[in-house]
Formats: sequence, C-alpha cells, structure tokens
Amino acid sequence: MATKKTETTPPTRRVEHTITHVEAQSTNQQELQHITKGNATPYRILAIVLWVLALGCEVAAILLFLGKFTIPFLKIPNVWQAVIFLALDLILLIIGSQMWKKANHMDPASKKNKLAFWLQNNLGVIVAAVAFIPFIIIALTDKNASKQDKTIAAIAAAVALAIGVLTGIDYNPVSQEDLQEAQQVITQDVYWTAGGRVYHTHEDCGALANSPMLAEGSVTAAIEAGKTRLCKFCANKDGIENVVTDEVLENAAD
Ligand SMILES: [Zn+2]
Repeated sequence: MATKKTETTPPTRRVEHTITHVEAQSTNQQELQHITKGNATPYRILAIVLWVLALGCEVAAILLFLGKFTIPFLKIPNVWQAVIFLALDLILLIIGSQMWKKANHMDPASKKNKLAFWLQNNLGVIVAAVAFIPFIIIALTDKNASKQDKTIAAIAAAVALAIGVLTGIDYNPVSQEDLQEAQQVITQDVYWTAGGRVYHTHEDCGALANSPMLAEGSVTAAIEAGKTRLCKFCANKDGIENVVTDEVLENAAD
C-alpha cells in the first residue's frame, strides 16, 4: 500500500468516473439512526466476540502462570507460555478495538448523554484494562512463582496493557450531533467510494483519482452508506470548518 502524503492543497486530476446516484432512504433523524445502527451492528458484534476471545486468552495466561496446566508441545517454561497467550490477548484486543471504533464512526453516540458518549468511545480502553490488569495483580501476588517469573510476566503484561490502551483510544470521536451539523452545512451532493470511509464534495478530488466507480448523493445518503466524515482535502478546498473531517484512506481499490 502506498503511503499517502498529507497536503493542504490536493492534487486535482480529471478522471472519468462512473457515477451511481444513491437516494437517501431516511426522511428524519430517527430513521437515519436506525439505518446507521444496522450498518454498524456487524462490526459491534465482531468487536465483542474478539474481546471475549481476548479475555479467554488472559484466563489461559493466568492458569499457565499459576501452573494449573501446561502445553507440553510448546517445550518452554510456563511463564513464556503465559506470555504467548498475553500476545494473543493483545492481538485480539487490538482488532476488536478497531472494529469497535469503526462502528462508532458509522453509528456515533449522542453527546447529550455524556456518560453514554464517554463509555461508547472509551470501551476499547476499558476492555484493555480488563484484559491485562487482573493478570498483573495475580502474577505479582502469586506466592509460588519465582521473582524472575513475576518480573517477566508483569513487564510483558504492562507493555501489552500500554499498547492496548493506546490503540484503544479514539483520538477523533464522532458524535451524532456532528453528523447532523454536516447534513445542515453541506447541502450539495457528495461523492464516495464503496471501500472508503469518507465522503467528498469534489468529484475531481485527488483522493478519488484511482477510484473509477463513485457513488453520489446527499450527505444523508453518504452517512447511510457508512461514510460519516468529510474528506480533509475537500474540506480545505471548500473552507468548511467545524464539520467532522478525516484523512483520506481510500485510493486502494474499488
Ligand atoms: Zn476529497
């Protein structure tokens, strides 16, 4: 995958696009929320399944560390077997958190309920804490383990916890109100690609140069399709501020 340069002025290129017009299905905010919720649900379910599996790996790591069982074919001390399960724990946690963030961007919580908004956007961080802190406490308080094993286990889990927290944070959370504002500010039709995660106000946006197939419709239609942010290049071009924007990650396929 090519690395994308972040430029304030996007390269404008004339490209022939095949454009399909998409009509918005919802006529009011409640209907829109219903549709976006439905689009985000598979990602939420996948996130929860991955997180449950991650916690399963933590339980296995705890049992291995305590010597409750051992995996004979691994032929390494139990403390290292526990570290392997902590690594699996971390991988599942990270993928789950990315799925959860994607779902939150497609179907954001309302800012009106501060606690619900905070919880939904920080769930990945909370799960990261649950995925490693119990292990750290149990490992450090285990009376039978050697000091060396405790150190290895605690460091491995602490590093995993830090990575899990940092990758679980949503640095640019979207709110339901952000989407409503965008619908009011941008009244013209916008463009998006099937695989992208943003919509564009300009058909000749450089980020769309490698995407022959475009969908076109209102911002509402774009949001229904799961594109809840405006491309940063297009926002700069239009001088649109205060509307939720995002770096463009498309260009790859379509
Ligand atoms: Zn754009």
